[in-house]
Parts: sequence; structure tokens; C-alpha cells
Amino acid sequence: MNKKTIRDIDWQGKRALVRVDFNVPLDDNEVITDDTRIRAALPTIRYLLGNGASVVLMSHLGRPKKKVVEKLRLRPVVGRLSELLPEAQKVTSIRVTTGEAALATARSLQPGEVLLLENTRFDPREEANDDEMAQELAQLGDVYVNDAFGSAHRAHASTEGVARHLPAVAGFLMEAELNALYGALENPQRPFVTVIGGAKISDKIGVMENLLGRVDALLVGGGMANTFLLAQGYRLGDSLVEPESVEIAHTLIEKAKATSARLLLPTDAVIADAFSAEAQHRVVPVTDVPDGWRILDIGPESVGAYQEALKGAKTIIWNGPMGVFEMSPFARGTLAIAQAMAEATEAGATTVVGGGDSVAAVEQSGLASKISHISTGGGASLELLEGRTLPGVAILQDR
Ligand code: ADP
Ligand code: MG
Repeated sequence: MNKKTIRDIDWQGKRALVRVDFNVPLDDNEVITDDTRIRAALPTIRYLLGNGASVVLMSHLGRPKKKVVEKLRLRPVVGRLSELLPEAQKVTSIRVTTGEAALATARSLQPGEVLLLENTRFDPREEANDDEMAQELAQLGDVYVNDAFGSAHRAHASTEGVARHLPAVAGFLMEAELNALYGALENPQRPFVTVIGGAKISDKIGVMENLLGRVDALLVGGGMANTFLLAQGYRLGDSLVEPESVEIAHTLIEKAKATSARLLLPTDAVIADAFSAEAQHRVVPVTDVPDGWRILDIGPESVGAYQEALKGAKTIIWNGPMGVFEMSPFARGTLAIAQAMAEATEAGATTVVGGGDSVAAVEQSGLASKISHISTGGGASLELLEGRTLPGVAILQDR
């Protein structure tokens, strides 16, 4: 990675202004139901505290739509954070993001102390990337650290604007994400195989276009594979299809032929007579989907072919489930990919999973620890795989 990181700064006596992604799920009683994102930021915070800095944290939480929403205050997070950071001298939060009180509190911090600012998206200026807000935030620290990979595709005041007014470096989570994703994308060990799935082809066109020129094989599954099958003239019953994307599917198939990349589509499918876990279901060739039935997973023959293609791969990137994995009768294809990736990792491959639902599927499979890198950023990883520049990364200082 050619960006400076927190290792490049002498932190003694400095105030670090750190953008983290504490956008955690809360239940109705404002109890955190999954603290993965808080834990993911700990290495950076610990490093800063351990090297003599005080730390001012900022994050968004949910979608407050530019105003204060009581249920979206970051207060529940500070309790969990202080439990996870026994080494901190003090962990406090404040009910404002910028302004006099924030400034006074930030300036009073001693080395080893942590302050969590209020939800950045309560301020309408955040998402507008307003420069005044960026300057107000910049006053709260000496050096800006971006560790919120999951928000790096947004040019907001706390992710991009603020970095125009302070020295700006990457945190450890950001560094790990960029190394894993760019490493696989730009400097892959071959064979390089990608698996693309998910609901809609329209969400993944950019990713497929960018990957086709780089990979040795591209395996397609999920609802989006249906539009490729439609492009080949098959009748797909009540399957999810996007007729408006048939042209694009054609173009991608032609593009694959023009490159050395193999494009694999499902040859069989698990079909159901309703979109329900209780529906009747059976396996058919993709040429034989009856009216009134719908494809909800790739079939065993396709699973076998995809496993074969993943065997021996040295780099694998996966985005998008192979089926409606949320319902157990249609989770097999997705679990098989997770399993194949775990085995490839064991055999020395670099394996990367990105995308909110794909990551959820891998977590659900219990195989997460056997994958080289699981991205914490759904949208950000997708934009990176599309070959787009992430504003929150571009603005960081080059090495
Ligand atoms: P990610 O979040 O990993 O990028 P997507 O959001 O693109 O993935 O797609 C995930 C969704 O796609 C899941 O909710 C899954 O149920 C759905 N899906 C997968 N296969 C099918 C299918 N054959 N028909 C309808 N929905 C599907
Ligand atoms: Mg998703």
C-alpha cells in the first residue's frame, strides 16, 4: 500500500482524530447485538494509546437523515468500548460532534484517554462534505486517521473533507483491507479465480467488467446468474430476472470470449414452487425450469464444477451468495463456496470475501477464520472491485 499509516507518525503527546466505523446493530433496548466493528478498530486505538497519544473517535451510526435521532446516539458504544479497552486511562463520550464543548473536551484530553464524539450524521453538513464542518472537526486533533474502510467510498466531512486540513494517514484496519483487496486485485498469484453472485446483475456489472480482464476464471451464481441464462434463451419460470440487463449479460459473455478468462454459469439449479423455506424444491437442469417455479440456488452439478475451478486457485475473491442462503434448503451452493475457499486457504491460496451478505454467509458457515481476509466494508469493497477510487483513501498522504 502506498499510503502512510499510523506507523509513520510520532504520536507522543499528540491528539489523534480517528474516523472509525462503529455503525453497529442495536436492538430495541439499544443493546449492541454484534460488536465486530468495534473490535475491528481496537488494534489502531491500542497502538495510538500505547504510543503516547490521546484519541478522539468519530463515527456514524444508522441513517439519522441529517438530524438528531435519540435512538441513534453513540452512547451505547462507549460502554462496550471501555470494556474492550481496559488499558485506556479514560473512555468518555460527548453528545455533540463539533463546536465549543467538543473542542474544550478534546483539548482537555490527556495521553491515554479516549473521547467518542456524537454520531457524525446528526449534522446535515456531514454527508454534504461541508468544508466548514471539516475544519471544525480538524480542530479536534493534530493528525487524522481513517480506519473506517466501510465508509471510505463516501466523500463526507468526516471521511474526506477533514483530511484536507490535517496530516492524514491510514489505521491498521484500513491498511489490512487495502492490502488484501488491492493485493488480490492488482498483484494476484495465479490462477486467480473470482466468484460473483448475489441478487441482481445490475449491482455487479461494474465488478464483472473490471474483473474479466484480470482473472483466469469467473464463476457466476445467485439471482444474477439468471439474467445470463435468460440471455441464452432459457425459460426461467418465476425466477428473479432483469430483462433490461440481458444486453449487458450478452456483452459480458462476449467480452469473456475475447479474453482468456473462463466464464462459468450454473448448469443446474435448486428450484422451488414458492419463495419460502417451506416451499417444495427439487434439482433440475437450468434448461428445465417449469412455469411457476423459481431458481433459488445453484445445483449440485454446478457446485461440483465450481469446486473444481477453485481447486488449485492461488487467489480467490468472492462477492455475492450463490443462492437464497438465508433459507436453509437454498444455502448449499453458498456453503460449498465457503468450504472450497477454506480448503484453498489451507492449501496456500489467498482468499478474500467482500459484500455484506456474502460475509454474513461466511460467518454463518463457521468458516470465517479459515478465510484469509473478510472485508468489513460491503459497499466500499464493491466499489474497490469495480476499479473505482475510494475518496476516503485517495485523500490520505502518499508514502
Ligand atoms: P452482497 O451483499 O454479498 O454483495 P447481494 O446483496 O448482491 O450480496 O445479494 C445477496 C442476496 O441475494 C441475498 O439476500 C440472497 O438471498 C439473494 N439471492 C441469491 N440468490 C438468489 C436467487 N436465486 N433468487 C433471489 N435472490 C437471490
Ligand atoms: Mg447485500
